[in-house]
Amino acid sequence: MSVLLVLEESNGKIKRASWEALAAALRLGPAESITAVVIGAQTQELAAEAATKRVGKVVRVEHPLLAQYTADGFCITLHQLIQNESPTQVVFPHTYQVRDYVPALACRMGQMLIGDVVAIEDGPVFTRQLMQGRVNGTYRHNGNGPCFVSVQAGAFRADGIDERPNAASTPIATFTPTIDATQIRTRPGAPFRGSAQTVDLGSTQRIVSVGRGIKDAANLPMAQELATALGAELAASRPICDNGWLPMERQVGSSGQTVAPKLYLAVGISGAIQHLVGMKGSQCIVAINKDPDAPIFEVADYGIVGDLFEVVPALTEAVKAAKE
Ligand SMILES: Cc1cc2nc3c(=O)[nH]c(=O)nc-3n(C[C@H](O)[C@H](O)[C@H](O)COP(=O)(O)OP(=O)(O)OC[C@H]3O[C@@H](n4cnc5c(N)ncnc54)[C@H](O)[C@@H]3O)c2cc1C
Repeated sequence: MSVLLVLEESNGKIKRASWEALAAALRLGPAESITAVVIGAQTQELAAEAATKRVGKVVRVEHPLLAQYTADGFCITLHQLIQNESPTQVVFPHTYQVRDYVPALACRMGQMLIGDVVAIEDGPVFTRQLMQGRVNGTYRHNGNGPCFVSVQAGAFRADGIDERPNAASTPIATFTPTIDATQIRTRPGAPFRGSAQTVDLGSTQRIVSVGRGIKDAANLPMAQELATALGAELAASRPICDNGWLPMERQVGSSGQTVAPKLYLAVGISGAIQHLVGMKGSQCIVAINKDPDAPIFEVADYGIVGDLFEVVPALTEAVKAAKE
């Protein structure tokens, strides 16, 4: 088993989704079997960051034509690298960029992408969700050529990735692809952003998140009071932001932010798949919902079945009392 892990960066830093993909790659084989790949025109710092993680080797894929992402540039480059390295698995975070080019890359190599994987069992057997998360499908590669896999955000916890005590010992190689400007058919525009991110919920330790159960914007101060008592940020499901009750940057989910705090308190949120993908990597999930069958309870560590208008003020008082 040898794994090529293709890391993605943003503003010169490797994205957290890439480290979650590393956590997934570590289910496939030991750290020594994993080669982390960074791509760009200048990758020295990215490679140094990757070398601190549990990987056996880092490859810097460098070319001036890779200064900005293009689907053609990345497909041509990775095709050459994969032929060179002959990995059994090629693992990616399931980002917008990966959705853009990896199906074409896999197709070039006579393969398909097992996309948006949420679990990996021995075999390896990959699990993806189908029909809006109602059904799980399992997939096994036939072993004929490299297996392309992308990993859903929040499905694997990146905090299990120990930093290497001696990053200097991780070998870093450079690969220069053969690529010509005429092969790149598109000119890159500004990358898509799901929502503006002046509030970085991604690095917050505690979140109180409200859903449609809150009923009215006038009830938000009740949730804010609980958040303040807990030292937490206030976040929300999409309908709350769509209504303009909270800014879009506080939306959690597939078209909002992906979060993994120590505590995620879901208040009146049903647990639709688009919300779950943004928060299920949280370390401790507490859900308050009056419907005992709400899907949020399937991912919750602690569930309170009850009316949030009774539970939230009582919880706030209890937190305040505990702090005295
Ligand atoms: C392409 C696409 C992208 C999307 N992206 C996102 C996204 O990024 N984030 C997101 O959140 N959603 C997203 N959605 C929407 C998603 O499908 C759901 O519609 C949404 O998450 C539901 O929000 P909710 O749980 O707040 O509301 P609801 O599903 O209406 O749930 C409200 C819950 O509150 C409970 N409740 C009601 N009153 C009380 C009370 N008094 N006490 C306790 N509980 C109560 C109910 O039992 C219910 O479970 C997306 C949808 C699509 C199609």
